[in-house]
Amino acid sequence: MSKIEMKTPLVEMDGDEMTRIIWKILKDELILPYIDLKSDYYDLGLKHRDETDDQVTIDASNATKKYGVAVKCATITPNAARVEEYGLKKMYKSPNGTIRAILDGTVFRAPILVKGIEPNVRTWEAPIIVARHAYGDVYRDTEMKVEGPGKAELVFTHADGTEDRETVFEFGEGQKGILQEQYNIEESIESFARSCFTFALEQKKDLWFSTKDTISKKYDHTFKDIFQDLYDREYHEKFEAADITYFYTLIDDAVARVMKSHGGFIWALKNYDGDVMSDMISSAFGSLAMMTSVLVSPKGYYEYEAAHGTVQRHYYKYLKGEETSTNSVATIFAWTGALRKRGELDHLPDLMHFANCLEKATIRTIEDGKMTGDLTLITTTPNPTKLNTEDFIKAVRATLDTLL
Ligand code: NAP
Ligand code: MG
Repeated sequence: MSKIEMKTPLVEMDGDEMTRIIWKILKDELILPYIDLKSDYYDLGLKHRDETDDQVTIDASNATKKYGVAVKCATITPNAARVEEYGLKKMYKSPNGTIRAILDGTVFRAPILVKGIEPNVRTWEAPIIVARHAYGDVYRDTEMKVEGPGKAELVFTHADGTEDRETVFEFGEGQKGILQEQYNIEESIESFARSCFTFALEQKKDLWFSTKDTISKKYDHTFKDIFQDLYDREYHEKFEAADITYFYTLIDDAVARVMKSHGGFIWALKNYDGDVMSDMISSAFGSLAMMTSVLVSPKGYYEYEAAHGTVQRHYYKYLKGEETSTNSVATIFAWTGALRKRGELDHLPDLMHFANCLEKATIRTIEDGKMTGDLTLITTTPNPTKLNTEDFIKAVRATLDTLL
């Protein structure tokens, strides 16, 4: 069988620990035998990030701007323990943070649905995709503990020195309290909105957006207004043509509706709401290893990754020569997402077909009862077979060969 040709290279970002082991097996078994892979390879493994003073992360992000599509392996975000473990020159920032800062995007996370891994919410039939704004709010807040008597104020000082001032609260004698300030930038909110509208059109799925604008009449209301203005200006007609809807509602109403919905839509959320709700949605759908994650930039760059980390505990077992059963589904879907997007942009139907078949093969393998240990624990399939890390990928390959 001749291999599928590519036109433009895929930016490939290798990573750390167990997911790096999976990356190699996955490429050898599921990609290289079928595709004449054109890849612009960057080693984001922690050791190489340290050797390059993290320049490799910046180079990989810039390559993504150049070529448009990247696939990324999970990477270690160093903490004090990692600095010691790897003898690092310094505690580098999160690679995902660096990539997001350069590409400026929104992260979309969607569960991968498989028969036998049933959502905890009975009515959910199709995935709910969470789109989280990844800038500002409580993640960049300023906080204070105070004790009265005294007055808390919100002050904006103009460049010319004049001030806008609002009293927050007057604390009485000996009255202790806490203060919190949040901010956001309209440009960032608009680029979030744009990413959401673009993604909804691409996926042909309804878009929901929710905040607490009735209570937060300026802050949250600005989010609501920016979404609505952009929709009216640029997306209204496109949504109608695609037969999808944009729908705004209060967050408490949205939560109630989500629980009664059949799924199949995109739910855009502010930073904190998205953080909390994406964990709820993913665990209610089954497992973090059964989630896709893609960063979509408003300029049309795509970076596909797994939603989970480097599975450190499994890696240490692997290093000791013990058998592991680590789920590679999210990493496989990062590859299929990136290959399909590459195929779409370069008009390569064979590449898109391959990506679809590989996803089908992965799902079918699990539905046939062959899966990794995390899934045997939660599946409703009777007598599932627990496979080790490598054998699961080989089982997917065997299924793939029947589909191609
Ligand atoms: P993790 O790698 O997501 O793993 C946490 C636990 O979840 C694992 O110990 C395992 O549970 C289970 N798990 C996660 N993925 C799995 C998979 N594919 N198959 C089977 N089980 C899976 O999170 P972590 O241990 O907190 O973080 C490890 C490293 O990953 C950290 O250095 C962190 O910085 C990094 N990280 C990277 C990313 C990213 O690059 N996108 C995201 C998050 C974390 P059991 O041990 O119970 O089997
Ligand atoms: Mg969280």
